[in-house]
Amino acid sequence: MKILVVNCGSSSLKYQLIDMTTKDTVGIGLVERIGLEGAVLTHRTASGEKEVITTEIPNHTVAIELVLKALVSPTYGAVNDLKEIAAVGHRVVHGGENFAKSAIIDSAVMQAIQDCIEIAPLHNPPNISGIEACQKLMPGIPQVAVFDTAFHQTMPDYAYLYGLTYELYEKYKIRRYGFHGTSHKYVSQRAAALLGKPAEELKLITCHLGNGSSITAIKGGKSIETSMGFTPLQGLLMGTRSGDLDPATVTYIMRKENLSSDQMDNFLNKKCGVLGVSGVSSDFRDIEKAAEEGNYRAKIALEIFAYQAKKYIGTYAAALNGVDAIIFTAGLGENSFTMRAAICANMSYLGVEIDEEKNKVRGVEADVSKTNASCRVLVIPTNEELMIALDTFELTR
Ligand code: AMP
Repeated sequence: MKILVVNCGSSSLKYQLIDMTTKDTVGIGLVERIGLEGAVLTHRTASGEKEVITTEIPNHTVAIELVLKALVSPTYGAVNDLKEIAAVGHRVVHGGENFAKSAIIDSAVMQAIQDCIEIAPLHNPPNISGIEACQKLMPGIPQVAVFDTAFHQTMPDYAYLYGLTYELYEKYKIRRYGFHGTSHKYVSQRAAALLGKPAEELKLITCHLGNGSSITAIKGGKSIETSMGFTPLQGLLMGTRSGDLDPATVTYIMRKENLSSDQMDNFLNKKCGVLGVSGVSSDFRDIEKAAEEGNYRAKIALEIFAYQAKKYIGTYAAALNGVDAIIFTAGLGENSFTMRAAICANMSYLGVEIDEEKNKVRGVEADVSKTNASCRVLVIPTNEELMIALDTFELTR
């Protein structure tokens, strides 16, 4: 049984075809610049051979059409017939309060995803385009929605409510939702397997550190608190996002810089974070390089990031009343041993002691703590696509 995993952004589409017997990816690719000049599909076979298709791709339907063509190509495809694809799993960013689990997409689910557009105007519309394109081009094949927010629906009310008026929560559903749920869930399950303990017995802090970053406290396999909030702007400072602020700075900057609400939204999402602080780049590799060369702003950007992550870990250790393991994942978490070391420095009060040599790993599963450390530090590459495929498989088999 093969499952197609689709992740649609406004002008991009990532896909993976996964064989559920072996859990192997048999075809993978990316469509970029949908609706723009210079659109391109880059497809890779299971053995890594690359096929680049440059053509006009005005919308997501045309993008999916090309993807399906690539998947059945006699030269570089992954299946002989589209009938071999049993179901499609879609990453959907926001499920609001409607979804604590993945769901087979029917008209009611589609309506609920549409209802969330108001609170996720950038993310849900392209997700919907991807679903509609697949429904049109693969009639009769079940489609499943896997929500970034679903894993965090187990947060208690005192964790997800803000200190605003309760009426605003009732009227507009303003509350903490949390994101990267599929990733936090995947790495927490892998952590339980690596630690050889049932998830129900573990207190974990999962750090998804990439372009977007979030940290989650997981008790007994359930998310009880997470750093992203109503939108993915809250929490740590990120590649280009500001993260936590004194809310009064927002109106102050708008007045001083004469910015509209849309301009301010764009500023906080695109121009801040480690890019804004360092003035170098949003890419941590560039910032680490500049810091090594003595650039003060690059150095301080990395220090702020590590300090904020350390503070979240401390807060979540308090919320969990202890922690069995801290897990690092995503681009930065999996690869930057200097960042992991900076975050975990001086955490002996939690029983955290990183082994410098073991920590020198990139992109592989590893326990990087000292043998006797009571809190384990694990590196676990995330695999959101596999998690989406597993949920899709469960719901449709
Ligand atoms: P993601 O959003 O998970 O794809 O992560 C992207 C981020 O991970 C970018 O900011 C990269 O700079 C960062 N990253 C990837 N590889 C490394 C590395 N070897 N060292 C430091 N940062 C890295």
